[in-house]
Amino acid sequence: MCIFCKIIAKEIPSNIVYEDDEVLAILDLAQTTKGHTLVMPKEHYSDITEIPFEKLSHLMDVTRTLAQRINDRLHANGFNILINTKEAAGQTVMHMHVHIIPRYDENDGIKIEFSENKFDMQSILELIKG
Ligand code: AMP
Ligand code: ZN
Repeated sequence: MCIFCKIIAKEIPSNIVYEDDEVLAILDLAQTTKGHTLVMPKEHYSDITEIPFEKLSHLMDVTRTLAQRINDRLHANGFNILINTKEAAGQTVMHMHVHIIPRYDENDGIKIEFSENKFDMQSILELIKG
């Protein structure tokens, strides 16, 4: 059983923020910012490519509601919603989950920077478009 399945089965303690039949939300141990929360399906899917659409839809609905509530109650000024998918993208727990990371100000310890590169966009489009 993966670590999140053990948390869902209550074999490992966690700080539960929200729970329903399909979804569990817990405080991330790391607390990257105050209120950093993880939302996960109770069924084990390794990443976002595996979870069926209806379940993803409900999960994202819960995520949005919780993000708004966390934002309001903790007096944040916004939030990042993050889904790391596979090792190359920084996924360390292979049980699909969504990060809610409340944001406070420019000194809250997080910097998401998009570096700029010059790739040939035409050939990229040809690869991506249907
Ligand atoms: P990711 O890198 O997207 O796979 O994120 C995994 C997250 O799970 C990290 O932010 C960890 O801090 C968090 N995490 C790992 N184990 C636990 C745990 N037992 N309880 C709460 N959060 C955890
Ligand atoms: Zn699992």
